[in-house]
Amino acid sequence: MIASGAEHMHESISTNHHTVVIGAGIIGLSVAVELIWRGARVTVVDPREPGSAASDGNTGWVVPALSAPVPTPGLPTQVARWMLEHDSPFRLDLSHVRGNARWLRQFWGHCNPLSHRQGLLALGRLNAESYSGFSRWLENGLTFEWRQPGVTFVSRDAAAIEHVADELKSLEHWGYEQPQWLLDDALRRLHPELSADVAAGVRARREQVVRPESVIAALRAIVDDAGRVIRGSVQDVQHAGGRIVQVETDSGECIAADAVVIAAGAWSAKVGKCLGTHLPVLAGKGYSITVENPELQLAGPLYLADAKIACTPFDGANRFAGMMELTGPDDSINPARLATMANHLDQALPGWELGSRRIAWSGLRPMTPDGLPIIGKVPTFENVYAATGHGMLGVTMAPVTGAIIAELIVNGESSHDISAFEAGRF
Ligand SMILES: Cc1cc2nc3c(=O)[nH]c(=O)nc-3n(C[C@H](O)[C@H](O)[C@H](O)COP(=O)(O)OP(=O)(O)OC[C@H]3O[C@@H](n4cnc5c(N)ncnc54)[C@H](O)[C@@H]3O)c2cc1C
Repeated sequence: MIASGAEHMHESISTNHHTVVIGAGIIGLSVAVELIWRGARVTVVDPREPGSAASDGNTGWVVPALSAPVPTPGLPTQVARWMLEHDSPFRLDLSHVRGNARWLRQFWGHCNPLSHRQGLLALGRLNAESYSGFSRWLENGLTFEWRQPGVTFVSRDAAAIEHVADELKSLEHWGYEQPQWLLDDALRRLHPELSADVAAGVRARREQVVRPESVIAALRAIVDDAGRVIRGSVQDVQHAGGRIVQVETDSGECIAADAVVIAAGAWSAKVGKCLGTHLPVLAGKGYSITVENPELQLAGPLYLADAKIACTPFDGANRFAGMMELTGPDDSINPARLATMANHLDQALPGWELGSRRIAWSGLRPMTPDGLPIIGKVPTFENVYAATGHGMLGVTMAPVTGAIIAELIVNGESSHDISAFEAGRF
């Protein structure tokens, strides 16, 4: 058994206590590892290869600076404009609207200054912990690609990125460093790879990058060694006395459970329904293109704010990711969306596509109507917890989410204030 990290944990639990985690994305695996480190037995269930849904092809940014929730004042007008543009970063499948009218109504309802500010403060406060999440994992013996290069948000127009500086100002109280403005020559000196079109930048220096595939592999190694991963889709449960006592998969496996964690990403609404719990999570599809052995040297992670594309240099590869499609739980790749991304990249980063191989990927972000994740006990059963709805921040928040759920299961309470993230708020 891998003991790494166990010596850093103070909690303990009966060695017979068994948690079933539904979903082996970065969130489910994080919960499993944090539980293992606290002495619990864990089984993770997933029909897919762990990490292969939304968690391995993303940009790997650890960005507490982007704690602002997605519902934003002015977004409905912007969305209406985007719907008329063929090369916009957003797409809404109208046939999908009818079945999700309640979610969309709630989402629009949160696009106001008060909800946005409350969400920013709640997420910003919790994410102050996310700055140390991955270094804590490295100290606990996990091995993965990690660096802290900072992130530069760039645009043709300084006004388009002012909000990043304003949001960081709101979070100053929790120790967020204030960003550095980079205009024209200063930006060009730091990022000579940018085309002349791009004129303004805001740099957040504490932001980090992990290679998500390497994080998944490290977490999985711990679970394979000290827990169990089962291939299967959870389809049914048995309950008794207000508790789930058994989880059943489509392959006929029946797994006895003392606690159950729903970490099924964009599929959490369906899994929640099976467990009698309302979890309003909708899929927000995004795409990435990874260029292996790239010719273009990215001086550091860049966010192209006009096209909403994140660009990350990894060891031996550059990855470019963006787009948001509310088109249902289907993660097939639409070549037209990749072409749109490529057009935007041609304008901002000439030569971005040159390298030995290009790999296209898509993943479904688990989106909630208020833009905040769901972390905590569900109201319907005493021993069921939700860890889902992380939207654009699932990588950033994986260590803190894993620790919170493990604390709740092992200690019955968390050391973090999670009142804004409770499942019961819906
Ligand atoms: C293009 C793109 C770029 C991104 N970039 C970043 C970034 O830079 N930084 C960041 O913080 N976040 C980023 N994200 C967001 C991040 O990828 C997600 O928030 C995160 O991966 C969600 O993890 P998850 O474990 O909740 O879901 P997933 O990884 O989707 O895992 C959920 C798992 O549940 C399983 N499941 C579903 N139904 C069942 C069932 N019935 N039984 C058992 N298992 C089931 C699925 O098969 C799946 O494997 C990005 C997302 C995209 C799409």
